[in-house]
Amino acid sequence: MNKELFKDLIRDNNLRLSHPRFLIYKELSSALTPLSPLEIYHSLNRKKRKIGLTSIYRCLDLFESLEIVFKIAERPNVKYKLCESDSHHHHIVCKQCGKAVELDFCDISDWSRKVMERTGYQVTDHKFNFYGYCEACKT
Ligand SMILES: [Zn+2]
Ligand SMILES: [Zn+2]
Ligand SMILES: [Zn+2]
Repeated sequence: MNKELFKDLIRDNNLRLSHPRFLIYKELSSALTPLSPLEIYHSLNRKKRKIGLTSIYRCLDLFESLEIVFKIAERPNVKYKLCESDSHHHHIVCKQCGKAVELDFCDISDWSRKVMERTGYQVTDHKFNFYGYCEACKT
């Protein structure tokens, strides 16, 4: 997502666009591949921008909860990828190479209705990923 969408999202959630948050966004938006918290830390350090690793983790957690970034669990560490979409969406992750692709559709209204009927809960949101093998990894 571009800078304007990012800023709007932060404001729409009544959050402050602090300098560290913006710097971390910029690192992710200029990266060609997903970044680990440590890579963000080192990259900012090289630019003489000292942000503690704990703050970076906290910021990425926040970004993840707002669907600004997608977290890719890749042992031994996790990597984060900036989302293209600024609205609700899902991802499919390759089990072989870890490549994640954003899906610009979500069509689970039938499923939500079933969950509500079955449990009596009021469904407010949901979160899940698809997994499989990408074009290059499937044999
Ligand atoms: Zn995404
Ligand atoms: Zn793959
Ligand atoms: Zn969805």
